[in-house]
Amino acid sequence: MLPNTSRPGDGRLTHELDPQDQGPQDACGVFGVFAPGEDVSKLTFFGMYALQHRGQESAGVAVSNGERIMVFKDMGLVSQVFDEGTLNSLKGHLAIGHTRYSTTGASTWENAQPTFRSGPRGGLALAHNGNLTNTDELEAWLARRPGSTEVPHKKSMDSTNDTSLVTAMLATVDAPLEEAAREVMPLLKGAFCLVMMNEQTLVAARDPQGIRPLVLGRLEQGWVVASETAALDIVGATLVREVEPGEMVTIDAAGLRAERFAEARPKGCIFEYVYLARPDTVIAGRRIHNVRVKVGKILADECPAEADLVIPVPESGTPAAIGYAAQSGIPFGMGLVKNSYVGRTFIQPSDTMRKMGIRLKLNPLRDVIKGKRLVVVDDSIVRGNTQRQLVKMLREAGAAEVHVRISSPPVEWPCFYGIDFATRAELVAPGLSTEEICRAIGADSLGYISLDGLVRATHVPKDDLCRACFDGVYPVQVPTAQARELGLSENQEKS
Ligand code: SF4
Repeated sequence: MLPNTSRPGDGRLTHELDPQDQGPQDACGVFGVFAPGEDVSKLTFFGMYALQHRGQESAGVAVSNGERIMVFKDMGLVSQVFDEGTLNSLKGHLAIGHTRYSTTGASTWENAQPTFRSGPRGGLALAHNGNLTNTDELEAWLARRPGSTEVPHKKSMDSTNDTSLVTAMLATVDAPLEEAAREVMPLLKGAFCLVMMNEQTLVAARDPQGIRPLVLGRLEQGWVVASETAALDIVGATLVREVEPGEMVTIDAAGLRAERFAEARPKGCIFEYVYLARPDTVIAGRRIHNVRVKVGKILADECPAEADLVIPVPESGTPAAIGYAAQSGIPFGMGLVKNSYVGRTFIQPSDTMRKMGIRLKLNPLRDVIKGKRLVVVDDSIVRGNTQRQLVKMLREAGAAEVHVRISSPPVEWPCFYGIDFATRAELVAPGLSTEEICRAIGADSLGYISLDGLVRATHVPKDDLCRACFDGVYPVQVPTAQARELGLSENQEKS
């Protein structure tokens, strides 16, 4: 048998596909700008527009004119929440923005960001990408603060709750924002890229592991911070550098100051390379598209197939399919058309439409695939339902054989750092071998890239990457209750 590759049988998955059942979802994109003389609300709008893939449930902007902070946020896509009139009314020289994907059940207006609080020194707005893992400790800290009358309602693992908690913590410190952040940042554990502001100052901070990306850019008349470089490109900012893990950057009328609040212990999320980040984004000096093409080449070496055509599952499987085709010598073609606009509507499909499952999102090009032995390249398998429907659809469209190739290793563990995969019980990989998953999705063969192969494609040292969803080695303490549930040693910090 080929390494990491399996051949078929007649296994079946038990869950039906929910058309809203997406792949892994990121928990947000953040953007901040300090640029006197520029239309910062519009810059923030376009920055968030470029980060829309990181969260599609709500969007918001906080803007300051130096004296007053205004916040506007609502449910929906960036283009649904903001119009020209709204943006024109949000005047100032300093702004932050946020696009949000919520975990189940928390998709409400109240949970949209940026959050806002009044503190002893004025207003404070904050936006967060990631997930904190020590909210118990932080709530205890907040409860001990002099004059603190309130502890936010605790909902474990809800990222918005984390954000409200940090906002409340900062608001209890009677000091300039920079000093308040200096006091609070070292207390936070987990994944966090934060952008925060008062009336005069923008502060950005990244957790000591640098799990989620955050970059600093230069405008002619100011500075930008953003989750991804693609957001710098769209507003015409030049990439200066990444905000370092454990670093805090403060920008105000006096200029930019950078300082460390913790020693850097890099553990960048490897899944950003697989799926989360935009292909045109650059992380650790490498364009994501190029890394994904390289992943496809390694995948072709590790999991070859006898086939006539390589097709991607658009769009996230496309670069790896290009790489697979180049390395294997099998022609590349587009065999599936994606309806890009189905993604996250707020309209629940009818039962009839629900039965259409994957056809709401993907439609096969029959003329291209009829009679062909296909290699189908996708980025990941989470629950397995999507791939099962996909294989069935391709066979119905006339494919002679369907060989599924996956540009990430099996997802075996949940993520506690801001990505909503599923619970461990919902993941297909922990309970089944590759061969069994192949049978379950009905493919002729199935192959995953190895973890070492994926790491090699990133050019980042393995020890500097979080790979926990693949190998279960969590680089930052997992909340006690969840650690127990998964049978991890309590308060583990494995590396
Ligand atoms: S567990 Fe996976 S998705 Fe989560 S931060 Fe680590 S590598 Fe990324």
